[in-house]
Amino acid sequence: MNFIETRGNDGRHPAQVSFSEAILSPMSSYGGIYVPESLPQLGIKFLERHLASDYKQLARAVLDAYQVDIEPAVIDQALALYDGFDDPQNPVPVVKVEDDLYVSELYHGPTRAFKDMALQPFGLVLSDLAQKRGENYLILAATSGDTGPATLETFKNRPNVKVACLYPDGGTSDVQRLQMVTEDAPNLKVIGIHGDFDDAQSALKQLLASDDFRARLKERNTLLSAANSVNFGRIIFQQVYHIHSYLELVRQQAIGLGDKVYLDVPSGNFGNALGGYYAMKMGLPVEKILIASNRNNVLTELINTGRYDLRGRSVVPTSSPAMDILKSSNIERILFDLFGAQRTRELMSQLDSERHYELTSSELADLQRHFSAAFCDDEEGKTYIRSAFAKGYLMDPHTATCFKAYEECRDKPLPTIAYSTAEWTKFSPTIANALTGEVDSHDIDALRSIAEAAKTTIPQPIQALFSKPIAQPTVIDKEDIEQEVLSFI
Ligand SMILES: *Cc1c(COP(=O)(O)O)cnc(C)c1O
Repeated sequence: MNFIETRGNDGRHPAQVSFSEAILSPMSSYGGIYVPESLPQLGIKFLERHLASDYKQLARAVLDAYQVDIEPAVIDQALALYDGFDDPQNPVPVVKVEDDLYVSELYHGPTRAFKDMALQPFGLVLSDLAQKRGENYLILAATSGDTGPATLETFKNRPNVKVACLYPDGGTSDVQRLQMVTEDAPNLKVIGIHGDFDDAQSALKQLLASDDFRARLKERNTLLSAANSVNFGRIIFQQVYHIHSYLELVRQQAIGLGDKVYLDVPSGNFGNALGGYYAMKMGLPVEKILIASNRNNVLTELINTGRYDLRGRSVVPTSSPAMDILKSSNIERILFDLFGAQRTRELMSQLDSERHYELTSSELADLQRHFSAAFCDDEEGKTYIRSAFAKGYLMDPHTATCFKAYEECRDKPLPTIAYSTAEWTKFSPTIANALTGEVDSHDIDALRSIAEAAKTTIPQPIQALFSKPIAQPTVIDKEDIEQEVLSFI
């Protein structure tokens, strides 16, 4: 299977690339991103065949259908990392919460958020490719909280890859910061920045765009790569759990094979939702994908009105910070799939230059055949957290946004799979506030009061963070990042 570019080819980049090339250097002509030339057609037969498969067998079959140019033994090693999840037999539990609402829990990996679903296997694959090519890569990451820990964790001590991870000092939760600054490995560097997430992100973009920086890396025999959520090496693993969750509903006798369901996805950069869209295109019986947002509701507006409009908007900080995103990168792949490369390039360049675009009414109708959308503000989110808790289900603020979409967006009474993207331990002050009314608590106090209210215990890996030594004390001004990264290399 080859990969082509969402904004067409400029004649200077290769017209098509292999899977491994697409993941090693994910940017292409005109600033586009790589997409599969066509999607494998799996159909009902595939689902039937995999009713009794475990998660790894299913994942293996999906990767086989893409005919990726990765050795089978390497894929097996990568998928074996799911054995490190809470339950190796079932890394993604699907839990019934209401009559026709099921929550698919994507947070049972090492860093307690759904980024592990893709980054765990992806890290092994990338490191293996680098070793076989005799190349050294630097992964630069800027994080508002979940990507950083998951990226560090997956590349920790892996050969031929180094990671420098920038985070806004004071801009993450205590747990998220501790997950990063207690990571101790010679190939990892964690750098706190005086500033907010936008400062960290723009510092990173400057470095990525700097020829001088690339040249200096080259002197040090190092190439730049990226592990961000447009990398198809992440997207490919994010299709598997949608299929798995559907099969779980069949196994739990909530639906019959072939019955349709809604997928309900808390969305930021749209990688999770894109995985669901591709799964649907490959033959998973999905009525529609419900896109849940927080107050940064560009996606709600796009899907409801056809307008993507960043004018006069800036990111609003919310209690679901992993969704505090206005430029949602993976939407581009949907535009490409529905409207083709030429139109995608037109829309995306208008977004770049004028900060808005508008779909035609027939394009909007097309989009709405696949998606519905709603957004949920922080107060509503807390209400959903409280009412789910009253029914015995503890969830995080990202997951809560799905409950609003579930209530508002379904036109048919079909079973719905909502995705839970983080464990309660990662966003405990918000949850404690929702459940007990306490305000401004430190994570450790919030964790204790939630554990008490829920009659559970703080999971050991989270508790342990609070007594681990700080291995990564660096906090600097953004002007000093380049020097800091170069001396690390
Ligand atoms: C990254 C993240 C999201 C958003 O996922 P996208 O694939 O970027 O849409 C939602 N919730 C949590 C907890 C996350 O870490």
